[in-house]
Amino acid sequence: MQLLELSRAFRTRGVRPTPQREAVWRALAERPGRTVREVAAELSALGIGQATVYRAVRALEDVGLLVRFAAPHGEVRYVAVLEHAHLLVCERCGDVETLEECELDAYEAQLHQRRGFAASGHTLIVYGTCARCQKEGRE
Ligand SMILES: [Zn+2]
Ligand SMILES: [Zn+2]
Repeated sequence: MQLLELSRAFRTRGVRPTPQREAVWRALAERPGRTVREVAAELSALGIGQATVYRAVRALEDVGLLVRFAAPHGEVRYVAVLEHAHLLVCERCGDVETLEECELDAYEAQLHQRRGFAASGHTLIVYGTCARCQKEGRE
């Protein structure tokens, strides 16, 4: 993700691209599924304070650039998204994978046909067991 591209995505959503907000977004894009506390711990090394991280998360979540989800161990976790999110969440280890491809456009079209509902977007979160955990369970 180029810096300019990210700045543009922020502006398109009406949020001012500050270095702190971009750092928070990048941290959650590089390693999705972390808590705000974990992100704050990482960014404190860059001199970004915890309160700033919390404010940035709120601002980015408000405009849909971060998506929150409930993780298996009861903690609220976040992922960074540009368009919308498709997540695979492992209920055992808490690992989160993001899917790039979107196969729900056809479904949205069907919804419109069947129910007259005009979809403007979606977030898909699939819970289950990741490949690694399934392998460990068999050993
Ligand atoms: Zn797992
Ligand atoms: Zn999609």
